[in-house]
Amino acid sequence: TKLSLSNLASLPATVARPRYGRENLKAGILHFGVGNFHRAHQAVYLDDLFNLGLGHDWALVGAGVFEGEKAGREKLARQDWLTTVVEQDEGHMSARVTGAMIDFLTPGNAAAIIEKLADPGIKIVSLTITEGGYFIDPASGRFDPTHPDIVADAKDVAAPRTVFGIILAGLVRRRADGIVPFTVMSCDNIPHNGRVTADGVVGLARLVDEDLAAWVRDTVAFPNAMVDRITPATSERERKILADDFGVEDAWPVFCEPFRQWVLEDRFTDGRPPLEKVGVQFVPDVSPYEQMKIRILNGGHAAIAYPAGLMDIHFVHEAMAEPLVRGFLEKVEREEIIPTVPPVPDTSLQDYYQLIEKRFSNPKIGDTVRRLCLDGSNRQPKFIIPTIADRLKAGKDAAGLALESALWCRYCFGTTDSGAVIEPNDPNWDRMQATSAKAKDDPSAWLAMEDIYGEVGRSASFAAAFAKALDALWKDGARATLTRYLAG
Ligand code: NAD
Repeated sequence: TKLSLSNLASLPATVARPRYGRENLKAGILHFGVGNFHRAHQAVYLDDLFNLGLGHDWALVGAGVFEGEKAGREKLARQDWLTTVVEQDEGHMSARVTGAMIDFLTPGNAAAIIEKLADPGIKIVSLTITEGGYFIDPASGRFDPTHPDIVADAKDVAAPRTVFGIILAGLVRRRADGIVPFTVMSCDNIPHNGRVTADGVVGLARLVDEDLAAWVRDTVAFPNAMVDRITPATSERERKILADDFGVEDAWPVFCEPFRQWVLEDRFTDGRPPLEKVGVQFVPDVSPYEQMKIRILNGGHAAIAYPAGLMDIHFVHEAMAEPLVRGFLEKVEREEIIPTVPPVPDTSLQDYYQLIEKRFSNPKIGDTVRRLCLDGSNRQPKFIIPTIADRLKAGKDAAGLALESALWCRYCFGTTDSGAVIEPNDPNWDRMQATSAKAKDDPSAWLAMEDIYGEVGRSASFAAAFAKALDALWKDGARATLTRYLAG
């Protein structure tokens, strides 16, 4: 059955569907970045809430800044913005149609998005625009107001092109109209994502008008959040499983693990959906949770990604079945990552790590090594390099993380150990590839990427460990290098 509102009733009985009338929903949240994660996470929590008969004026309106998002929008438009979410692990597979999104504005049409942002019904603007979407200077971890796209938006406030420019224009409209500003809620994997988002909007406003910047700082809320659910990209494989096993034809379904978590700070300008009813944890300070998640889970993903990539391993669960990759993950987590993570209320870091090993090993969700290898230039500075920095500051060694960095560097050369070509897999691929080629003879070239490594790149002891690891990877390959590391 083709997915659509009118076909909901005729879907196979095994597929759960909204228990609320879509016609009763009202838009309350505008979301930038309608990708897979958003549809597996926030949209599912809202769907749960609506199913309880609660919060029906918090429906989602999609938005995006790139023309490239039109294709996804078209797919969703043809199925009345419905998405099938399939949860899978070894013992379990279930499918549900979610209906929390009721509209999706034309991507790239800033004027229409700003108009919607001026609507008092929109009380929250949420974001999953990837780690690279925030214009952060990795060395300082702060917003980079000199980025050309930001400078352009500051010059032409009426016709912005970045998410931050559009949000600011929406806030300016609300201020002029005397409407309470909306809350800006980031759901990206970035340490202190709320603060980083505030830095972006306030930083851009400062280029325009100090008074406006002060107003944004004082009146807009930017809660921090920790978000978690492993959600791979959708391929033909997923569409086919859904059609074969559940009889649903969905042009853009989402597959994910059963696990999900959302820890959120309770700071909103104009109310929020009662998400605590559907499992969201509200806490005064998200930082311990996000440190744990970003370092142990996202850092762990990075640790398995590059060795597996160099060994031509396709799926993440296959990487976890390779003793060298699993062993590397286990050792680097135990010796170097977990010891840098401060305690988290009511949580054992050991248990948290055990659960992650299990989640990474889930053979059903079809997460790919290539997805984990993506965008190292934006991810390493958030997931790995701060851990290294903490260790060096404490006078501790970071041999395992130096090897992780070397594996990433070696991967960016663009070939695996077998000689297979790695297609570009980073928004800054050309630069990464050229720097990796240079680093083959002169490892210091890699660490000299100041915007990525910052002070870590200036540590002599780290440079020595990195050079040794990279040299071993080139001479002996990933297998032999990991074998030696694990024996040490
Ligand atoms: P995706 O590629 O499916 O979606 C990303 C969306 O962001 C797309 O709509 C894209 O057009 C948009 N985007 C990219 N760069 C942008 C920019 N500079 N400005 C504005 N929009 C931009 O990816 P996804 O799997 O949905 O993941 C998105 C983000 O969600 C991740 O980067 C991460 O921060 C967070 N997240 C993902 C997962 C996961 O397992 N997929 C888990 C936790 C958190």
